[in-house]
Amino acid sequence: MSGDPENPEHPERAAVAALADDFLSDLREWLAIPSIGVDPAHRGDVRESAQWLADALRRDGWPEVQVWDAGPALPAVYACWPAEDPEAPTVLVYGHHDVQPVDPVERWRHPPFEPTLVGEELFGRGASDDKGQVAMHLLGVKAHLAARAAANPAVTIKLFVEGEEESGSPHLVPLLDDHRADLACDLVVFTDTPLYARDAPTICTGQRGVYGAEVVFTGGTSDVHSGRAGGGVPNPATAIARLVAALHDDRGRVRLRDFYTDVVEPSAAERADYAALPFDEDVWLANSGGAQAVSGEEGWSTLARVWVRPTAEVNGIHGGYTGPGLKTIVPADASVKLSFRLVPNQRPEQVAEALREFVAAHTPPGLHAEVIPLGDGAPPYAADVAHPAVGALKDAVEAAFDQPVRFSRTGGSGPAAILHDRLGVPVVYLGATLPDDHIHAPNERVVVPLLLRGAEAAARLWRLLPERLS
Ligand SMILES: [Zn+2]
Repeated sequence: MSGDPENPEHPERAAVAALADDFLSDLREWLAIPSIGVDPAHRGDVRESAQWLADALRRDGWPEVQVWDAGPALPAVYACWPAEDPEAPTVLVYGHHDVQPVDPVERWRHPPFEPTLVGEELFGRGASDDKGQVAMHLLGVKAHLAARAAANPAVTIKLFVEGEEESGSPHLVPLLDDHRADLACDLVVFTDTPLYARDAPTICTGQRGVYGAEVVFTGGTSDVHSGRAGGGVPNPATAIARLVAALHDDRGRVRLRDFYTDVVEPSAAERADYAALPFDEDVWLANSGGAQAVSGEEGWSTLARVWVRPTAEVNGIHGGYTGPGLKTIVPADASVKLSFRLVPNQRPEQVAEALREFVAAHTPPGLHAEVIPLGDGAPPYAADVAHPAVGALKDAVEAAFDQPVRFSRTGGSGPAAILHDRLGVPVVYLGATLPDDHIHAPNERVVVPLLLRGAEAAARLWRLLPERLS
C-alpha cells in the first residue's frame, strides 16, 4: 500500500490497512474449505463454505444473513445491510463460493486447500476465483463503515454469493425468481472478473456469452473396409472436416446465417482504451498456451478479437480409427464439439438455430446429422459506460489504485446477463484479480495488495453512489 494511511483524505485506505491482517487470516480459513461445486463428493464442503461465509458476515455485524439451501441449487448466501437513509439506493454484490476441481493436483507447489502466502501472493484454490474477491467485499464494507464511523452504510448493500457458478449456474434463474423481493436492487456489482494487468488496472465492462453443441454425422451402422466401399459411400469424417472448414471465410468471419447482425460494437471510448492498453504480443502468446502467432478475424486487434468479437471454435473432433498403425476403413460416424463466444446482442438460441441450419446445409446426401446442444449457453453482457454508476466506479477505482484506469473486457462468460435480465437493473464489474492468477488451473493465487486496493475501491464506491445515482 502506498500513501499515508493516516492521511485524512484517505480514510478508506487507513481503514483497510487497519483491517488487513484479520482479512488475510479469515480468507485463509475460508480457502481451506474444499468447496468444489462440480464434484458430488464435495457437497458437504460447499455447505460448510456457505456456513463459514454466513458466520463471517454475522461476526462482521450484517443485520440479515441467510443461507439458501432449500431447492436443488447448492447453498447460496444472502445478506443485507440497510443504509441509514431509507431513500438511499440499493446495491447487490454478486460473487460465488464454489471452486473448480484441483486436478492435476501433483502440479500444485502447495496443497490447494492449505492456503500459502509467498511474499504478496496467496496461493490456494479459490484465492482469486472467487472467494478472494468476495472476501474483498466483506473488507470493503467494514472499511466503509469504519471510514465514516457509521453503523450503517451509505447505500443499502446486499450480498448474493452463489454455490454453482463453476457448474454454469444451472439453478440461478429459479433462485433469483424465488427470492425476487430479497434481491430487489438498483444496481448489481458483479465481482468475478480481473483487472487487465497489475500495472494497468482497468474496469471491466463486459463478458462474452457462450453457446456449445456437438455435431454428429452418421453413415452406415458399422465401419466398413475402405477397399470394399471406399469411394462408393459418403465418409462421415470427411464431411465433418468439410463442415469445420466451412465455418469461417477467408477473413476469419463466422459463416452462420445472421451471425453478425445483432453484434453491437463497443463505444469509441472503449475502443480507444483497448488501443491504449499496454500489450506485449510475446507475453500474451506465452500466456495463451504458448501459441506461436496471433490470428483471427481480419481488421481487429488481438484484444478486440478476444473481448468484443464473436467466435466459433472447434473444441474437439473425433472420427474413425486413431490407434497405432493403419486401419483401412470408412468410419460409421464422426463428430465435432463446437463452441461459440458471443457478444452483445447475440443470443445463444439464435446461434443454436443458425447452427442447425448450417449443419443441415453441410450434410452430404447419405449421412444423418444430429446437433446436440451442450447446455443452454450463456448470453453476453456489456455495461453502458455512460451510466453514472460506471463513472462512480471509475472514480473509486482510480482513487484506490492511485492512477487513471481504462476500460477493458473479458473474453470469458458468466451470469451477468442473467442477473441483468431477472433483476431488471444495470450490472457493473468490480474485480481486483489478474488474468494470470491461474484460475481453474494448478497454483491459483491472488495478489493480496490488489485485493486490499479493491476493498478500498468498494468502500469508496459505497460512499460515492448515493449522490451519483440520485
Ligand atoms: Zn468465478
